[in-house]
Amino acid sequence: MEKITLAGKNLQELEAFMIDKGQSKFRAKQLYNWIYLKSVKDIDSMTDLSISVREMLKKETQMSSISIKDKQVSHDGTMKYLFELSDGNFTEAVLMRFDNRANLTACISTQVGCPMGCSFCATAKLGFKRNLQVDEIIQQIYLIQADTGLKVTNIVYMGQGEPLLNMENLLASIKIFREQFQIGARRITVSTCGIIPGINKLAEMDFQSTLAISLHAPNQQVRKDIMPVAKKYEYDELIKSLKQYTEMTGRRITIEYVLIKGINDSVENAKELAKNIIKLKSNVNLIVYNENEKSPYKKPTGDTIQKFKYILEAAGKKVTIRLERGADIDAACGQLSAKFSAKD
Ligand code: SAH
Repeated sequence: MEKITLAGKNLQELEAFMIDKGQSKFRAKQLYNWIYLKSVKDIDSMTDLSISVREMLKKETQMSSISIKDKQVSHDGTMKYLFELSDGNFTEAVLMRFDNRANLTACISTQVGCPMGCSFCATAKLGFKRNLQVDEIIQQIYLIQADTGLKVTNIVYMGQGEPLLNMENLLASIKIFREQFQIGARRITVSTCGIIPGINKLAEMDFQSTLAISLHAPNQQVRKDIMPVAKKYEYDELIKSLKQYTEMTGRRITIEYVLIKGINDSVENAKELAKNIIKLKSNVNLIVYNENEKSPYKKPTGDTIQKFKYILEAAGKKVTIRLERGADIDAACGQLSAKFSAKD
């Protein structure tokens, strides 16, 4: 008999299960808290449940269906987790702490590999395997909490894959993070490479979390050279749909822009970008390119980065430069590229 997986179940499902086993709703609530708020590693740690209830749970259930295959810790405290899925595939997540903040931010995956093929991204080199199921998205956070004994406070959907191509599971997972893990909508960010129908759908549903867009280019010409998605969803159309998104939701979006030496980092590029996004309710997050063996691109000099930032600021944009985290363990942006299992 296959065991029931606990992490991912909602309260009603846990109640139905416990009642079926002759237990009370109250016991189900205790179980629920152990999974989502305390995120214990195993059933034996659920100390307010009787030994016989725990024995029953051990026989009938498992905490999660995915497992931590490997964990690497960077000198800056960033941790990269490699998860093994029940079909032998792998995916990854990253946990970041920022010294001066109590925040604990987890960067999670929505797909195994990625189908988008951005020329600068290591994950793209893996190709696409499959979408993650809701449980597999949820369990990344459960396992990180169980492993560290800490509560994740912020979630960014910036790991492997394109979240808006796994829309149903994306939205279902956000609902569970909000309701069951009690992580506020405003502490959740979804990053997309620019899937226009997905953005429009989020606008229609009055999306409450932050939308980040990997724009990475000042115009269609540059964008289509580095991001194949631009051939299908063109620059001007994308900006239009983002504008509509901000108007419909009233929310500010984040524009992500990876600075790559000689590709999109010139003064002209900055000016053209500023012109194109000036009317868009947005902040800009500049990401210094993370060099990796799989790609020939280089990062710009500090001087070039500052100039680029200054031009956007002079045009009235709020600009942040994203700190590089966990580069020494290949956990920085665009570096998530776990090897697949031997049987593939
Ligand atoms: N598919 C989504 C989610 C991935 S988020 C999206 O495209 O937004 C990962 C972010 O890291 C994206 O903004 C991606 O463009 C960026 N990235 C990829 N490779 C990178 C690299 N080598 N250095 C810095 N950022 C990179």
